[in-house]
Amino acid sequence: MPVHYDYIAIGGGSGGLASAQRAADYGARVALIEPGRLGGTCVNVGCVPKKIMWTAASLAHGLADAAGYGFDVTVAGHDWARLKAARDAYVARLNGIYAANLEKRRVTWVRGAARFVDEHTIAVGEEVLTAPHIVIATGGRPALPAIPGAELGLSSDGFFELGTRPARVAIVGSGYIAAELAGVFAALGSRVSSFVRHERLLRNFDVMLSAALAREMAASGIELVTHAVPAALARAGDGLELQLADGRAFGDYDCVLWAIGRTPASAALALERAGVKCYDDGVVIADKYQNTNVPGVYAIGDVTGREPLTPVAIAAGRRLADRLFGGQGERHLDYELVPTVVFSHPPIGSVGLTEAAARELHGEAVRTYTAGFVPMYHALTEAKHRVEMKLVCVGPEERVVGLHAIGHGVDEILQGFAVAIRMGARKRDLDDTVAIHPTVAEELVTMR
Ligand SMILES: Cc1cc2nc3c(=O)[nH]c(=O)nc-3n(C[C@H](O)[C@H](O)[C@H](O)COP(=O)(O)OP(=O)(O)OC[C@H]3O[C@@H](n4cnc5c(N)ncnc54)[C@H](O)[C@@H]3O)c2cc1C
Repeated sequence: MPVHYDYIAIGGGSGGLASAQRAADYGARVALIEPGRLGGTCVNVGCVPKKIMWTAASLAHGLADAAGYGFDVTVAGHDWARLKAARDAYVARLNGIYAANLEKRRVTWVRGAARFVDEHTIAVGEEVLTAPHIVIATGGRPALPAIPGAELGLSSDGFFELGTRPARVAIVGSGYIAAELAGVFAALGSRVSSFVRHERLLRNFDVMLSAALAREMAASGIELVTHAVPAALARAGDGLELQLADGRAFGDYDCVLWAIGRTPASAALALERAGVKCYDDGVVIADKYQNTNVPGVYAIGDVTGREPLTPVAIAAGRRLADRLFGGQGERHLDYELVPTVVFSHPPIGSVGLTEAAARELHGEAVRTYTAGFVPMYHALTEAKHRVEMKLVCVGPEERVVGLHAIGHGVDEILQGFAVAIRMGARKRDLDDTVAIHPTVAEELVTMR
């Protein structure tokens, strides 16, 4: 006998959990289907364990910086296995908290993989569930290249399983995950080579950020190999050799990490039985209200291919529940001006249009302001990591349409500026705000 619900969320990651819980808060009878650990990518193999590794790497930099401030620090080493065990325990605690939250809200957790039977019916193994409203929140998986020997490398999921730190690492990919993991490995003592397909890392970000990050990576000993199209990965001696399409070969790696993108997890859902349309790459097509082409079936988060970030999946999921069960008929997520941080070393913060995108849209009406300096944190440290900032403004009013920064503390600075920009801040509003001294952030309100 099918069990009937008001709402079914397929996927217990950021989006599915948030949407299911908000719907339950409104009194809906909700089922959440998840075969794995609650929390999805973010909690288990994404933001959370990644930020722990970033913090470990930041501490490694901090320990090196401490001598300049008078500390006599002897570092006897770093225990990757101990860090991993503590990190895994932290994640396991979060898994438990998510399960308790579902229970508290009386959301039924159905353990297994979902597939559509029709637009209102879902099968999970032998179980059958029906609902008038079903949200697809199945996220994505790391993509692997279709080349010989690809299986010898790891994906970002595999990174989190590493029990020891590899000494020699190659990271293939130019997105933020590649940049972040390169920084972690290098800070904790690995020799890192970073392979990018075109000429720069972070191609979707402002070119100023890519250039500054490349300088920082070079300074920390990371080799950047550009125009690198992988052709094969092979064992060579006791290591791995990465062969490129142009004949170059780079070798002797203990670990090769693929960070070349993610594939939407939609293939196993039997979407054709419900008539839900996807693009060829598996991205589920959804409008700004998260509606698919089938009434009563919605999609949120990474599987929709838009702004693949946890807070985006959460916000879309909650707004959908507000609309369906909270009487807020027009509620939906505005995908403009989503702020984002790259947890590289040093970190990057970015919101709004890059200078190039702004110029394409607004031509001569664009004016930029830039600043570059060594922050006071480095006043007494041997290493000097610069901060670089750019404001992109448009029109006679100089409305701020983009803010891009790299350097100490920008990860924490960005959120407040994102609020101001969303509210329509003009350059003059930043100028009229009294600075906080001495900080990195003050440079954003004193640019000339
Ligand atoms: C290494 C890494 C670092 C990241 N760092 C950040 C960061 O710092 N900040 C940030 O905002 N974002 C970050 N992200 C992105 C973030 O993790 C995702 O945007 C977010 O998890 C998307 O949420 P989601 O709900 O769409 O999907 P997911 O969190 O991927 O959840 C989808 C869930 O659906 C389940 N599922 C799949 N198929 C089925 C099925 N057939 N039936 C039932 N369940 C199914 C999966 O098991 C999974 O648990 C990172 C990602 C990675 C890989």
